Amino acid sequence: MKWPADYHMHTPLCRHATGEPADYARRALAVGLTEIGFSDHSPMPRDDFDDWRMRDSQLDEYVAKVRLAQQKFPQLTIRLALEVDYLPGHEDWIRELAARHPWDYFIGSVHYVSDSWDIDNPAKLSEWKKRDAFAVWSTYFERLTMAAESKLFEIIGHADLPKKFGIRPAQDCTPLYEKFLNAAMNNNCAIELNTAGLRKDCKEIYPSPEILRLAFQKGVPITFGSDAHAASEVGMNFAEAIQLARRVGYKECCRFVQRKREFVKF
Ligand SMILES: [Zn+2]
Ligand SMILES: [Zn+2]
Repeated sequence: MKWPADYHMHTPLCRHATGEPADYARRALAVGLTEIGFSDHSPMPRDDFDDWRMRDSQLDEYVAKVRLAQQKFPQLTIRLALEVDYLPGHEDWIRELAARHPWDYFIGSVHYVSDSWDIDNPAKLSEWKKRDAFAVWSTYFERLTMAAESKLFEIIGHADLPKKFGIRPAQDCTPLYEKFLNAAMNNNCAIELNTAGLRKDCKEIYPSPEILRLAFQKGVPITFGSDAHAASEVGMNFAEAIQLARRVGYKECCRFVQRKREFVKF
């Protein structure tokens, strides 16, 4: 069986991942992948925004690291991408980043529900106790919908990230999911099946089977990503992700070359 591409992995430049791109590429070949894409955390307009991403001055170094892996492993297709944080008001900055290198795709991710709270940050877990879970999910999905509508991204990352620590609202979130998925569909955004969720407290792929089922019904395309922050995580739990995608009805996923979409069977 041919594995789908692993389109979500990081480099040490983000300050919370280990191993060089060449190590990830070697691991990808070892587990039988034929295509991967680096999508490290993009710089913010201000380097002191937080401490878990590359600095603006390191963007060229990042590209050079990925190019080096491409040269070392010509038998593996390696895409050049970024995981870009979507915050309202950052659109011009994201367009500026897009113009700086010939990217294959941008993953648009929402980690911040305000300028100061990245909801997946374990150091800020206590914030969850101060808030109503449904209010957090509502703001998060509102921003995710805006990210899809911005047309700045080929892929939306880990669509239900707020479940990471296992905190879930009692309310029905289906209307939030519907609104986001309609925006994704209408703006040619794919969503990723991100296996990192299996390694977190939620113990579930992002997004949930419920969201993925809705996505399939609406015709939203998919990609696969391990969200590897270490070489050993490349392609991790892809068998489970494929099983989930197939169970829901998917037979094809996307690949991206210079921000153009192609469909491939998996
Ligand atoms: Zn990360
Ligand atoms: Zn992320």
